[in-house]
Amino acid sequence: METLERFMEEWARVLGKGCPLLSKESLEDLKALAPPPGIPFREEPVGLEAIYEEIRACRACRLGQVRRKPVPGEGPLEPPFMFIGEGPEAMEDQQGKPFVGPAGELLTAMIEKGIGIPRSRVYITNVVKCRPPGNRDPEADEVEACWGFLVRQIQIVRPRVLICLGRVAASALLRTRLPLNVLRGKPRRFQGIPLVVTWHPSYLLRNPAAKRGAWEDLKKAMALAGLPPGKG
Ligand code: SF4
Repeated sequence: METLERFMEEWARVLGKGCPLLSKESLEDLKALAPPPGIPFREEPVGLEAIYEEIRACRACRLGQVRRKPVPGEGPLEPPFMFIGEGPEAMEDQQGKPFVGPAGELLTAMIEKGIGIPRSRVYITNVVKCRPPGNRDPEADEVEACWGFLVRQIQIVRPRVLICLGRVAASALLRTRLPLNVLRGKPRRFQGIPLVVTWHPSYLLRNPAAKRGAWEDLKKAMALAGLPPGKG
């Protein structure tokens, strides 16, 4: 309240008594609209933090009832890549951070040892922000319930290239039921942003022979992002 009064007095001093927009009466009207003493003004979070707050409060689908911690995602604005997996696994559910388990370790190695940039330079998230029990695939209605969060993240983060990790992410963004081996290999687009499909790191842990193909996918993504060839 004190801050508001000081602000209004300063405003009146700068604009002068004759300002028709700030008469004595209008100042009194403004004071009447101010919250009572003791109730602070609340600054609304903007951008990503506003989305993260909505996700933390969300119970729009059944996954919200069984999660420990929601996993909104993390990373900087305007990164070269935004990696999108299908949903949090057990360790992510415990920590509230994306890709921190064994699959996360492999993803980190792909980014840092393969592409050659720190993981902190890319944005990482999932299609659904709460863990599906038993690491099952998210159901179609759960993907739809969470869809708006992902689209808004993409629009705010503005990555140079989207990288879908696995069939669930690729199917959600490309609105297709085509199998992964058909979707891989050819760059696509989502809302004008180049999009590359590759294997999920969990699949690569179970099928190490697929790593060579995943590296080819990453090289395509690097070319689309304008990065020099990585280390492989
Ligand atoms: S998965 Fe998405 S839609 Fe479902 S409760 Fe969690 S944040 Fe909400």
